Amino acid sequence: MIATGYPWHLSLMENWVPVLFVFAFGACVGSLINVLVYRLPQGMPVVLPSSRCPNCETKLTWRENVPILGWLSLGGRCRFCKAKISAEYPIVETIVAVLFAATYVICYLPPSLTAGIDLKFLGVIQPEWALNGFSRTWPAFATLLILLGSLVAMTLVDFRTFTIPLILTWVPVGVALVMHPLNAMLVSPGGLRHSAGTLGDWIIATPGPGGWWWVGACAGAILGLVISNLMLAAGLISRSFADYDAWEQEALVRFRQEHPDADEPGSDTPELWVQYPHARREMVRELAFLAAPVGLGWLGGEILLRLADAAAVPLWLQALTGVAMGYLIGGAIVWGVRILGSLLFGKEAMGLGDVHVLAAIGACLGWPDATLAFFAAVLVGLVSAILGAVRGANASRMLAFGPCLAIGAAVVLYAKPLLEGGIAALLRSPEPIQLP
Ligand SMILES: [Zn+2]
Repeated sequence: MIATGYPWHLSLMENWVPVLFVFAFGACVGSLINVLVYRLPQGMPVVLPSSRCPNCETKLTWRENVPILGWLSLGGRCRFCKAKISAEYPIVETIVAVLFAATYVICYLPPSLTAGIDLKFLGVIQPEWALNGFSRTWPAFATLLILLGSLVAMTLVDFRTFTIPLILTWVPVGVALVMHPLNAMLVSPGGLRHSAGTLGDWIIATPGPGGWWWVGACAGAILGLVISNLMLAAGLISRSFADYDAWEQEALVRFRQEHPDADEPGSDTPELWVQYPHARREMVRELAFLAAPVGLGWLGGEILLRLADAAAVPLWLQALTGVAMGYLIGGAIVWGVRILGSLLFGKEAMGLGDVHVLAAIGACLGWPDATLAFFAAVLVGLVSAILGAVRGANASRMLAFGPCLAIGAAVVLYAKPLLEGGIAALLRSPEPIQLP
């Protein structure tokens, strides 16, 4: 449908200028991610020192610091010493910029014919809540962008160091905790009307107006997590894998004696840590840590159910509980698989870092999306393992689950309606399946 009589250049301005802004914002976030990925694993301060040439330490001018364009204007070499500057910097900046801009386009542009470009096909994958427009959903959109940026940064760090700096998972959780209730309280306090005309649905899955049990359960579980962490800090319960470093030292000494000529496995590589013999015993420690959150979660739910079942849960509290449910259920899925897998196989299965990653995805997108992202991540991991085995790559690269989770989350984010169609076909459901 062509908006007749409406000047195309106005349509261009209205629709595509915001895309350009989001693209530029993405490039800046990409630039920040470069700094984080470089400095976080080394424990360097993120904010203070300005960017320098890693070779001769010449400070970059503000022009050279402009994302993407700065690198291009320098031709990929330091102005002073002509040392090569890695192309990874502009590539990461471009990827994040394109991700951000694409997310904006998918969320807010599809229904209209914008400046002669028909984007109707994107309507297939447009999230339903985004139909309410940018002005009513911008906090949720901002949460998406922060999650995407954090996932890119986590993936890059995980690829290099096999660890995930936890701060990268806490930032999106903090943003989700503020933004989703803000959306409910200030931006769209009356709820969001979807295309079908239903009122009261929310951007992420919530327990609904009658969900007092979940409100209490989430509050209790989070209180339990705080208590367990305090007990851990006070030494009342012990940290799992506390003797791992000592065991690793011994294992390396043994390895050198037995294979004097071979390259020794690097510390923290899967070749080494799958041989750690006490994984089952350590799971008991992790279950002890989880006793307080599970027990208090159940107790909190039962108490609140009896106290407050008459009134409806206010929308902001529904949204907040939705964030907490996503965090707890997302984290519980990976942690549950980790404990079961370790007990079954006697080897540490999935890292605690991955628990934090899916918890963060759940906090931002809600628990159904986190669950879907987990299964998508398992598929991605299987496919990459098969491809890796075919190409003869070493096993260590296939075992990093963090990047699989990031890709799984992206699949859910950009293709949820397609996934729902696939699930409906799998289950031979006569009705279209719509996940919350
Ligand atoms: Zn230089």
